[in-house]
Amino acid sequence: MEFREINPSPRLLMCPGPTDADPRVLRAMSAPILGQFDPEFTSLMNETMEMERRVFQTKNEQTYVVNSTSRGGLETILTAAICPGDKVLIPAFGRFGYLLNEILARSGADITIIEREWGTVFEPEEIEAELKKGGYKAVAIIHGETSTSMMQPLEEIGKICKQYDAMLIVDTVATLGGVDIRVDEWGIDACIGGTQKCISAPSGTALITYNKRIEEIIAKRKRVEKGIRVDSDVDGNLPPIPSNYLDLAQLQDYWSPRRLNHHTEATSAQYGVHEALRIILQEGLEARFARHILNDKALCAGLEAMGLKIFGDRKHKAPVVTAFHIPEGITGPALRSDILNHFGIELATSFGPLDGKVIRVGNMGYSSQKRNVLLTLGALEAVLLSHKVKVPSGDAVAAALAVYKDAEK
Ligand SMILES: *Cc1c(COP(=O)(O)O)cnc(C)c1O
Repeated sequence: MEFREINPSPRLLMCPGPTDADPRVLRAMSAPILGQFDPEFTSLMNETMEMERRVFQTKNEQTYVVNSTSRGGLETILTAAICPGDKVLIPAFGRFGYLLNEILARSGADITIIEREWGTVFEPEEIEAELKKGGYKAVAIIHGETSTSMMQPLEEIGKICKQYDAMLIVDTVATLGGVDIRVDEWGIDACIGGTQKCISAPSGTALITYNKRIEEIIAKRKRVEKGIRVDSDVDGNLPPIPSNYLDLAQLQDYWSPRRLNHHTEATSAQYGVHEALRIILQEGLEARFARHILNDKALCAGLEAMGLKIFGDRKHKAPVVTAFHIPEGITGPALRSDILNHFGIELATSFGPLDGKVIRVGNMGYSSQKRNVLLTLGALEAVLLSHKVKVPSGDAVAAALAVYKDAEK
């Protein structure tokens, strides 16, 4: 048996995560390891917190990183902010909405799910009608529902949550770093982002932020573990957080001046996040959001020029992901394997009711570039033509180029 050197084939990740990591991020990650309490490293942690606040557009002191994928970030926040028996509303409009339910059901929350057909989003009135019934501690919702390509407007929902005194907990895993997200202005109490989507660092870390209201809850649930606890550590009067690894109360103490020795920080991953955030702020949030919008416009123009039908409510489509109906004459697996094997481009299918029905194209972070959009459209056209799907030759790339040309004016 031969054990091969890791030397991956060149790929262009145009799926909705993981995306291509910026080469600067990969370089930063190969730097030598520092100890997790080395002042040089803890000052990097503090810089990361400050950069993260700017990306989340928040003043929340508690803004830091969890060593787990985005799903772990969701679990960390949800299992800490929601106590067993708490009433939570989950407006679900795709696969990731159901993930919030999976996580919360296991931590004993009293959940009400309201559902929407895939390819649509909620009207604020639908949320209000449910909150009016009373007793809700929180609303947990997805911002960019990657499974359907829909993006839920949050501003009104934030106001309604405030009115009914329910916390608003939002999954911005797919959108953070690609789309305008205003945690403070929109009244979001806790927000979770991932690194392998628009942040364009490898998977394995989650970005989180939460406000004083959640800090107060976790203070009452805090149990510092035996062996590191000190006399001043008093147990709170609410049920303890059910996870040790994802214990938000202890993680907070690790990211605070106390530097509680909870776990060994994933130093290399932190280097990557630090550089990814630096890149985002160097580009500037406004410029970055505009870049995603322009590339999305060009991508959609190209797909439509090919005669492909874009899935879902166009008004609420996220600029960072697009789903199109698989045309007759080709199957999803054939399309994806041909575009991967011949062109090195990765596209994605979807889940549940959309599995085998749509192909999803990501437009995220470092992958969101003019040349990538053009390459993807050209390759897609060639694959469809090779399967005898009738598409007009050359129109897709030309339509996308026209969008770019128009934007230069
Ligand atoms: C990708 C994604 C997740 C899960 O992220 P992992 O890093 O795979 O755990 C959660 N929510 C949304 C909206 C996503 O797009």
